[in-house]
Amino acid sequence: MRCIPLREAVPHVRGAKGDQQTSAHPRRVGLRNYTDRMPELPEVETVARDLRPLLVGRSLLSIHRSRKPLRNQWSKKCEPMLLGSRIEAIHRRGKWLLLELDRGPFLMVHLGMTGQFTVVLPGTAKEDHTHFVFLLDDRSELRFRDIRRFGSITYFADRAGWEGYLADRLGPEPWDLPAQDWQSVLAKSKRALKAILLDQTIIAGVGNIYADESCFAAGIDPRRTGHSLDAKEGLRLLQSIRVVLNRAIKYRGSSIRNYVGGSGLRGGFQNEFAAYGRTGKPCLKCEVPIECVRLAGRSTHFCPQCQT
Ligand SMILES: [Zn+2]
Repeated sequence: MRCIPLREAVPHVRGAKGDQQTSAHPRRVGLRNYTDRMPELPEVETVARDLRPLLVGRSLLSIHRSRKPLRNQWSKKCEPMLLGSRIEAIHRRGKWLLLELDRGPFLMVHLGMTGQFTVVLPGTAKEDHTHFVFLLDDRSELRFRDIRRFGSITYFADRAGWEGYLADRLGPEPWDLPAQDWQSVLAKSKRALKAILLDQTIIAGVGNIYADESCFAAGIDPRRTGHSLDAKEGLRLLQSIRVVLNRAIKYRGSSIRNYVGGSGLRGGFQNEFAAYGRTGKPCLKCEVPIECVRLAGRSTHFCPQCQT
């Protein structure tokens, strides 16, 4: 993949005819520039925070779904367990959302690349690519819209079900990862930092954008191997991850494609990027042009002077 400036790389996705007219899974459609821009922890956290006041206490009256497949299968057999259930809580783990229902089941939602999970007022026109509509008892609707259809909604009968599913897929949240565990992962790893940061089993929720921004904030070159960092650098990187994610949550995440929060509002952190997508532009600290390399299969942006 070329490393191209962000503005140029943002594809026009609304109303893409290829998606509207095919029932095949979009996996086969060219994905260049897409996999770098999936919703990450701050975006999913924003959706969860937006949805809580709109959904908690509401009951599900009906479920309608499109015929087009999402990333996983949806079984109608689970619907009787959902209908009439009240939403008790909304959780986030890594890049996953979890709706907890009062009768015990959970709905686990992944936004994939282009998923939008929003509550709309009664009578709101249904947009193209809307794959799920949950009618709520106040007549508002919870909708899942996903142009690329890499997202998913999965039913679990109980907490043990999703906890078991995520157990070997997801490590601790960035704020829960003990510094000594992090240092020990780094010390044992010969992988590039970028690959370590993207590994969801080590630290949950970091993707391409926030890996690049965290390395920039820490002043550490993402091409370095884990075991090359000393304890001070390792700690600085972990603290930078937390600071960058907190800041991004404050800005409601990054809307660089069609990501919106649970209330339909866009994020604003895309205007705060220091490294990500700024290839060739002057570093905000030293004015040396930001460079881009391919690392861990992803475009990786860094300042060759500030990040050592
Ligand atoms: Zn610099």
